[in-house]
Amino acid sequence: MNNEYPSDLQEAIKFHGHLCPGLAIGYRAAKAAQARLGIDRAEDEELVAVVESDGCGIDAVQALLSCTLGKGNLIYRDYGKQVYTVIGRKRGVGVRLAMKPGPFRRTPEQEAVFQRAVNGEASEEEEKAFREFQKKRVDEILAEDVNELFKIEDISPTPPGKARIFKSVTCELCGETIMEPRARIRDGKVVCIPCSETYSRGW
Ligand SMILES: [Zn+2]
Ligand SMILES: [Zn+2]
Repeated sequence: MNNEYPSDLQEAIKFHGHLCPGLAIGYRAAKAAQARLGIDRAEDEELVAVVESDGCGIDAVQALLSCTLGKGNLIYRDYGKQVYTVIGRKRGVGVRLAMKPGPFRRTPEQEAVFQRAVNGEASEEEEKAFREFQKKRVDEILAEDVNELFKIEDISPTPPGKARIFKSVTCELCGETIMEPRARIRDGKVVCIPCSETYSRGW
């Protein structure tokens, strides 16, 4: 483990398995939320995090804020957006951090190497360049002014709405029952999410 990093980042690296730009972004978001709300960790579900993507950064939120899927105080919305909303439930405070485009911008050459590395097609030299690029990006993200990384807004959290009852519909492909708001349309048929074969890694 690299000792140049603060202990909470080292914990996040241990939890996530590696240090990457995505984890660094999540780390900065979690730290910014802690500072803004004046709350450290969700020992008793005091904090709730709403995340809008399922990338590496979410693991930093789980490790630092103790907002976890298992405790039910990590809410995942599959919007594919690097947005982190953290709410202090008892005190009724909240902050929304939306990543600005800068941190993941790549030149066309970097993009080409990045794609080949991700697809396992990079040469040894390109692999090395890719690792160096990732490391540099991590250092940049860790050193950057937080207001350059995120658009930050204070929000007043609204209490969760009443549980609603939805109609059930039947998937035209597998015949299983689904609640209507989760139904999809494929080739004009009402289907369940697994049958719709859309790209989704949601839980
Ligand atoms: Zn990662
Ligand atoms: Zn189905």
